[in-house]
Amino acid sequence: MEWLGLQLFTELPVTGRIVIDCRHEPLLILIAFAVASAACFATLDMAERQSHSEHPGAQRQWRMLGACCLAGGIWAMHFISMLAFQAPVEMHYDVSLTGLSLLIALLVAWMAMTSLDRIDMRLHHYLQSALLIGLGIILMHFVGMAALQTGAQQYYQTALLLSSTAIALLTSLAALLLARYFRNGSGTRHQALKYGASLLMAGGIVATHFTAMAAMTLVIPASTALSLPSTDNSLQLGLAVAFITLLISGSSISAALADKKLQSKEDDLRRYGVLLSQLDQARASLQQAAHYDALTNLVNRRGFNQIFAERLAELDAGESRLAVMFLDIDHFKRINDSLGHDAGDELLKVIANHIKAATRSHDLVARFGGDEFCVVTSLNNRDEARHLAQRIMQRMKDPIDLGGRRMVMTTSIGISIFPDDGLTAEELLKHADLALYQSKGSGRNSLHFFNSNLKSRASLALQLEEELRIALLEERGLCVHYQPIFDLRTGQVAKLEALVRWQHPLHGLMGPDRFIGIAEANGLIVDLDLWVLRHACQDLSRLHQHGFASLKVTVNCSAVTLGDENLPNEVDVALFQAGLAPRHLELEVTENALMGDIQQTVNLLKRIRGQGVSLSIDDFGTGYSSLAYLKRLPLDVLKIDRSFLQDVPASLKDREIIQAIIAMAHTLHLEVVSEGVETVEQHEFLARNGCDYLQGYLLGRPVPMTELRPLLDQLDRQDIGFSPCCDTALPGSPDLFADSPGYRAGASTARRGH
Ligand code: C2E
Ligand code: MG
Ligand code: MG
Repeated sequence: MEWLGLQLFTELPVTGRIVIDCRHEPLLILIAFAVASAACFATLDMAERQSHSEHPGAQRQWRMLGACCLAGGIWAMHFISMLAFQAPVEMHYDVSLTGLSLLIALLVAWMAMTSLDRIDMRLHHYLQSALLIGLGIILMHFVGMAALQTGAQQYYQTALLLSSTAIALLTSLAALLLARYFRNGSGTRHQALKYGASLLMAGGIVATHFTAMAAMTLVIPASTALSLPSTDNSLQLGLAVAFITLLISGSSISAALADKKLQSKEDDLRRYGVLLSQLDQARASLQQAAHYDALTNLVNRRGFNQIFAERLAELDAGESRLAVMFLDIDHFKRINDSLGHDAGDELLKVIANHIKAATRSHDLVARFGGDEFCVVTSLNNRDEARHLAQRIMQRMKDPIDLGGRRMVMTTSIGISIFPDDGLTAEELLKHADLALYQSKGSGRNSLHFFNSNLKSRASLALQLEEELRIALLEERGLCVHYQPIFDLRTGQVAKLEALVRWQHPLHGLMGPDRFIGIAEANGLIVDLDLWVLRHACQDLSRLHQHGFASLKVTVNCSAVTLGDENLPNEVDVALFQAGLAPRHLELEVTENALMGDIQQTVNLLKRIRGQGVSLSIDDFGTGYSSLAYLKRLPLDVLKIDRSFLQDVPASLKDREIIQAIIAMAHTLHLEVVSEGVETVEQHEFLARNGCDYLQGYLLGRPVPMTELRPLLDQLDRQDIGFSPCCDTALPGSPDLFADSPGYRAGASTARRGH
């Protein structure tokens, strides 16, 4: 540093005089220390703010302010300490060098603040920064010293000079570590530690300065006279500089404090924001739980009511229409009872998806609990509702694999239309429910629209249900009619189908269509079927005693009864009590009764068949049996539903269907019964195509036991062909014999006794 007039690392000159009477003004030293401490504290604060600011602009501001505080503190400490220096020589300061020293201080401080901003600060980063800052401080010090114009040469003692440099380096390192440490934290302990750290840093800076001062020896030329220490304005100047620096530090600290408060408010606000959004989420989950069904994720009844009410309110009754569809899964209870509730839940989920897949995105689909679903859809005409319902029913028939079993489910649907069938949600739902009741009553797997008759029918159904219960309990009013089934090969009446009737005191003789649905809906059907079974066995036993020993009786068995594990025992008991051999009994089950848990049904049927009772599938073609499905069932007989025969022989398609069914049944080693034979042409067609048995009004209507024996006798007397037979006609049954009087078929009649 020769160019600055400083003699570093050189020996004292041989000539010249050493100025020994140098001293420092204690008050100014104290002020310098105070200024350094305040500046260090302010710098720590700025460093803290810098690290807490999220915006780069704000960070830069805090860095600048921190740099100003630190530079101001170091420089002011140095300057005040210089003012405190008193020597018997003329002293004045070079302004440009003083300014340069301030610039160096600023540069050093800026570096310090920048290095603090580093996110990932390793030890070598600390050491690097501390080296630069420490050397910067030393440089600043010596440039400041060079600004001191005394006419004397400054000689520096190497050891002390190096010590001063070491202190500067250590102070810088400590300052960096402390500043880094105090970036986070709060509370009085933190604050107290920060004060301590500020004093320590200030102590380091002061120590750097005074060690360097101690290393200095002033040498003046021998000819220069020493001057007496003059009373100058150092104190005032020192105080002024201190005041300015303290002002800067104080303002910075206040700004930092205000910012801290602001930030804590912001943090609070953010926390409140987070809390509020959490509350919102909680509210939404509650809403979800309250309005959605957890199992299927569909809207539940409460959610449905709300959305439906809103939709209704939006509608203009004059222009728009809505359909409300009530869905009930047929025989769902059987799944729950046989496979358990978990399997039932799984099934409901699949069913919910089937319904969703069949509906449109804007249709409202809800689950009301259990196996009840509801769909609301907007439409232009009733047909659209019918099509949607049919789509759902079709979709529902997709086989479902559950617990290693394959199920085919069906659904019953009731539909009400807004505004025709009601204006309020309550009314529309009630009416859709009534229509659903109607669907269930008509054998399930069907859809019905509400109509005003249903209202009265519903109350009638309720009344009938009660009366049927009593009729069953007291065995009063119920009776069994028998319809002959002819064997086409032998021309004999081979079987009798037992068909239940109810002689109602008010409504007269009622056919099963009027009350089977009601009985099925409330579980009375099992008792009813078993009653018919026992009754039919008894009647057949009596017929056997009267010579018709080869006759069989077929008894209808509803789906619900088929789900009764006790059925094989009941069959056994009925046969035993009547003294009948099992081969004289045949149970008729409808295709739809075989839906649901197929495996369980198959097992039950196998047990019954194992007892020697034969089994037939009734109303074939109206359900959804596949060939593969039929193959699995332990069946003996297939009964073609009469709907296929209605248009035979006129309809080519129906003729082909019947031919195909007969061929298929024979391939599966099943005998074929054709129901509903009403005309000679039908009879001839069936005979030609290899049908095994015929049943229908042409050959004999269902008759009560009292009329059965005369009928059988009459048939027996007729050697060839059939003649119209008497029947206890049901209300609404067409008397087809009126159209074909005197018809004589080629088959012979039932033969008496064997
Ligand atoms: P199903 O088992 O298919 O019985 C045949 C039905 O067709 C009988 O009606 C019979 O009267 C009718 N039928 C027979 N030949 C002709 C014909 O040539 N033309 C027309 N139009 N109809 C004919 P029904 O007695 O009214 O029985 C209706 C259904 O009620 C039965 O159909 C059966 O599924 C059910 N059912 C009858 N009795 C019982 C019973 O004891 N238990 C159960 N679960 N269901 C029964
Ligand atoms: Mg039948
Ligand atoms: Mg049938």
